Amino acid sequence: MPSFQPQTKINAQPTDALVVFCSDHRFRAGIEEFLNQGLRLNENYDLLVIPGGPQCLTLVEYLPKFSWAGWRWFRFLVEAHDLKQLILVAHQDCGWYKDLPLHLHDSQEPRKRQEQDLRKAQKSLAKEFPDLNIQSYYAEYDAEGRINVEALES
Ligand SMILES: [Zn+2]
Repeated sequence: MPSFQPQTKINAQPTDALVVFCSDHRFRAGIEEFLNQGLRLNENYDLLVIPGGPQCLTLVEYLPKFSWAGWRWFRFLVEAHDLKQLILVAHQDCGWYKDLPLHLHDSQEPRKRQEQDLRKAQKSLAKEFPDLNIQSYYAEYDAEGRINVEALES
């Protein structure tokens, strides 16, 4: 295929939001629907999509190079795009967590581990970027495959 011309034109609107979520393809369409319709972002957000999503920001001691890269990407986007809101999304059954040693968290229960990381990331981000509005969410699915996205209680 020599070239392809999408129907969609470039989005010339500035954005003030950055969304960080995991690479897991199973959740992508559901999370995009949540962002566009639930949060009314209308496809107007920067994206940082990496395994484990916002978890990379908590790896200062365990995987410092990952953490360094994560922070570097965050700072770049926040400053270059003058962002005002950060949206962190973790999800049920995240494969990234299966490789992380259990001693990194207070609980062995998967959702509690992820919520601990979301809170930790949110706290560090709030310290680094005090003017940003930071929200954390957890996406889960039921036996029929329906996705539900819940705001993390602080
Ligand atoms: Zn994941």
